[in-house]
This record gives sequence, structure tokens and C-alpha cells, in this order.
Amino acid sequence: MLYLHNSLTKKKEEFKPINPGKVGMYVCGPTVYDYVHLGNIRSYMTPDILRRYFEYQGYEVRLIKNITDVGHLTDDDIAQGDSGEDKIEKKAVQEKKTPAEIAKFYEDDFREVEKKMNILPAQYFPHATAHIPQMIRIIGTLIEKSYAYEKNGNVFFDVTKFPEYGKLSGNTLENLEVGARLEEHPDKRNPWDFALWLKAPKEHLLKWESPWSIGYPGWHIECSAMSTEYLGDTIDVHTGGEDNIFPHHEAEIAQTQCATGKKYVNYWIHTRHLKVDGVKMSKSKNNFYRLKDIEDKGYSPMALRLLLLSSLRQTQLNFTWKAMDQAKSNLQRINDFILNMEALSTSQDTESGFDIDSYQKRFEDAMDDDINTPLALSVFYELMTEANILLMKSSLKGQDAKKILAFWKRINSVFGLELHGQVEIPQEILDLVKKRENARKNKDFQTSDKLRDEIERLGYIIEDTKNNNFIIKPARDAKHNDAG
Ligand code: AMP
Ligand code: ZN
Repeated sequence: MLYLHNSLTKKKEEFKPINPGKVGMYVCGPTVYDYVHLGNIRSYMTPDILRRYFEYQGYEVRLIKNITDVGHLTDDDIAQGDSGEDKIEKKAVQEKKTPAEIAKFYEDDFREVEKKMNILPAQYFPHATAHIPQMIRIIGTLIEKSYAYEKNGNVFFDVTKFPEYGKLSGNTLENLEVGARLEEHPDKRNPWDFALWLKAPKEHLLKWESPWSIGYPGWHIECSAMSTEYLGDTIDVHTGGEDNIFPHHEAEIAQTQCATGKKYVNYWIHTRHLKVDGVKMSKSKNNFYRLKDIEDKGYSPMALRLLLLSSLRQTQLNFTWKAMDQAKSNLQRINDFILNMEALSTSQDTESGFDIDSYQKRFEDAMDDDINTPLALSVFYELMTEANILLMKSSLKGQDAKKILAFWKRINSVFGLELHGQVEIPQEILDLVKKRENARKNKDFQTSDKLRDEIERLGYIIEDTKNNNFIIKPARDAKHNDAG
């Protein structure tokens, strides 16, 4: 049974889907005004692993990841996320491009990074700018129900009308203090109200007609509009980085629940920050590494994936190159091990004594415990150690290797590591190997030697092992020890 730590209740809760066999997931996606950095990647890895584990368990998952191409304002650290300039528009002015060009450029970067990281694509990537009518509709409902009010063309959500406000973040109205981090808007009834719609100044590029003014939406309303549009009023799982908890997700809960009258999200899953030198990695602080920086230094995206899998999303992670080195060598270890198993699995014996079931159980126990990927990985590392010891004693059989490979394939559907040089021996080669085996049985060594040469010419090597067994490897993986 899968248990997930829910940031709303602060407890581990058994996962129960709204519809049997199905899971709806909403992921707060990128604000496309700059390159995706490793912190963003960490926050997208969490829903990817969770989604893969749901699929491993047989669920049909619908995952929606939005593209924020309007509404995310620059003064992130100030209160309700409704102060400052539009991040994309600001970049567009700086670079003398249109906001759409900026958004497209950085969305392409995001898509490429996700692909390289082997993050499974969402079923749909809705854009905020394509959902303005849905946002206007929700804002209209909120005004009708008196949860929101309009003044001078601006519309705000009245936080005093929603008693549950602050439940997710702990920022209840009693706890909130009007301090330096709060920029008061003259049209707000109380300083903690947040913007649903803002009237656009004349020079503003991103603006739409609405019943209240020509303007643009607040940042939070877009996720309510897109999540309910594609997943319904109540959704199973909503994820984001920990900085999304307040004000973004707190606001999403308030406005969505007040509009629909229903519970918004059953499981809130947040990923703690990735830091550099103890400071949150972020675009606005310009202290970030991109995937490209990692690759330029000779690390593969899969080494980064392994690094991220090796830490708990529930704890902050400090990025270091030493940890990258460790991940790189662990990846190599897995890679070599799988290649050895591939090779061994071609041997023709039929017996097997390797107990895979206990490893599978421990893998699932680790994943069931709030997606503990470091523990799940350590189960596989243990398997490798046991198998390697048996291999050295020549007591690991072809059938064992086959079982191990099948197990790896299954758990790697969750880890999502693409290994280099993982090979399947082509049928043509396997047929030649069989012929050679028959020739050897008939003591026709001339034919068997000829077949071995033919196999080598096709790029594979046969290595004889103990007990009349042999394994087949691609030539590049074989150890050449002839003085030749
Ligand atoms: P943004 O593009 O800034 O809207 O961020 C996209 C996603 O990345 C959001 O879910 C953020 O919470 C998350 N995020 C941003 N910085 C970090 C970080 N340093 N560590 C983990 N997640 C982050
Ligand atoms: Zn969002």
C-alpha cells in the first residue's frame, strides 16, 4: 500500500484514488522566461517518479504540467506574488523580442531538458495564455459568491472570507504579519488579499479584455483554471517545489474551493529545494546550473537523474560536484553489472537459485513508504553485491541473470535510467551460437571454429566459462588479453 506525505495534513496517508485504477496529477510547470535549472529539474523528478510508480502498480495516470507564460511577477519574495513586473514581459523588453518568442524559446529548452532527463512527457502541457476565458469565468464566480471584489479594474480575493486560509502553509491570518515583505496595493481591502486580475498599464504587452478591465490574470488563478479544466474540480495529486506552498498553492486552494464548493486536492506533494552553497538555486538569484553545465563537464543527464534519485525529496539537497562524481561512478557500476547480466543470460543452463522475490518486496516497501527512492536504489545495490559475489564463484547461472534482468527492467520503469550500451543479442547471433553449440556437441570442431569466427566477424565474442558454459558479449565489451 502506497503512503504519501501530504503537505496539507502533514501526515503520511494511504493513497486512495478518486476513480478506481486512475490517477490525476497536476504539476506546476516552468515560468518560461529563463533556462530550466537543476532545482526545477528536481521538482519535476518527483512527479515523474510518482507517476512511474503509479504506472508500475497498474494505474492509468493523467498528468498535466502547465507552462506559465503570463502572470508570474518578478517580486516573488514579496507577500502574495502579485507585485512587480511580468517576468516574461520584462525579458521580452530586455531582449527586444515578443513575449511569445521568449516563452517559446525557453519552453523548447524545458522540453529538451525533460527529454534528456528521461522525464516522461505529460499528457498535456497547457499554456496559461490559452486559458484566459477559463480564468475569467472562475473570477466571475468568485465575485458572484462574494469571495472576490473589484476596484478600479483590479480584482482581489478576500482572504478573510475563507476560514481555511493558511492551512497548507501555516500562514493563517493570525500568523501573517504586515511586514517589510508586503507591498500594499491601494485597491486591496486588506493587505493579504491576492490579485485575481490586474488592470494593465497602457504599455503592458500581455493583456486581455475582461468584464473588469483590459488587463492580465494573477499568477495563482492560472493553475486553478488549468487543473480543473483538465482534471476536474477535485484532483488526486498536485505537486510543486516547496516555494510554491506559499503564496501560490495556498491561493489555489482558497480560490478553487470557494469557486467549486468542493475539496480541491487530495494529496499535496512538495519537493524541498535544491541549493548551491546553502542558498536556493534560482533563476532570479542567477546562481543556477543548467543541464548543459553538467554535460559540459562530462556528466550525463542520467548521472544527474541518479543523483536526484539518491536523495529524498522531503529534504533539501545541496548540489556538489563530488556528489555528481559519486553518481557517475554508481551509474557506471549499474551499467557494467547489467552488461554482465546480459552476457551471462545468453548461457544455456536452466537452473536458478537466486531469490529475486525478497528484493522485489523490499523495493516495493521502500517505494510504498512515501516514494523512498534512495532506499529503493540501495535494495538494487545490495542485489548487485550478492550477484557479483556469486558470479565470482561461478555460481550465478544464465537463468539467474535472466531473472535479474527482468527485475531490473521492471524497477527501472520507475527509476527511468537509460543505460549506455545495454544490448540485446540479435537473433541472428543467437542462431549461429546454437549451431556452434550443436557442432561442438558432435565434436565437429572445424565447423564450430568457423562459426565462432563468423560470430566475431559480426561483432560478438563467445567466452567459455566453467562447466561447459559460455557467454556472448559485444566485442567492444570483451577483455582483450591476447598479446597479438
Ligand atoms: P518556476 O519556473 O520558477 O515557476 O519554477 C518551476 C518549478 O520549479 C516550481 O515548482 C518551483 O517550485 C520549482 N523550483 C524552483 N527552484 C527550485 C529549487 N531550487 N529546488 C527545487 N525546486 C525548485
Ligand atoms: Zn502553479
